[in-house]
Amino acid sequence: MKLKFMGLLIIAAMIGCTGCKTSQATKATDAAKPDATRTVMIGTRTLTVTGAVIVKYDSDAFYYKKQCLECGYVAEKQIGSTISNGASTINSDFTCPKCANKQTVKIVVN
Ligand SMILES: [Zn+2]
Repeated sequence: MKLKFMGLLIIAAMIGCTGCKTSQATKATDAAKPDATRTVMIGTRTLTVTGAVIVKYDSDAFYYKKQCLECGYVAEKQIGSTISNGASTINSDFTCPKCANKQTVKIVVN
């Protein structure tokens, strides 16, 4: 009689635990994160942009703002660069004032 009672308790415990594994432990989505690398076409030139957004451009110059790849924060400061005839690369460090993420801003002009 006592053993049977114990068995029922174990079964009850097992049923009670059904759904234990389906907790709300969903990972934070990466939806807020901007794309790490974007490609921008300026005429016949291709800009491969990482950690920045191109705000405006014309045939021989472009302007960009640094952007945090973690939280999407875009820096206030606008930086201009000329498009030279040959391929060139801009490399710059950026520390996000919002989330303190450190990253490299890279713009490759081809
Ligand atoms: Zn950030």
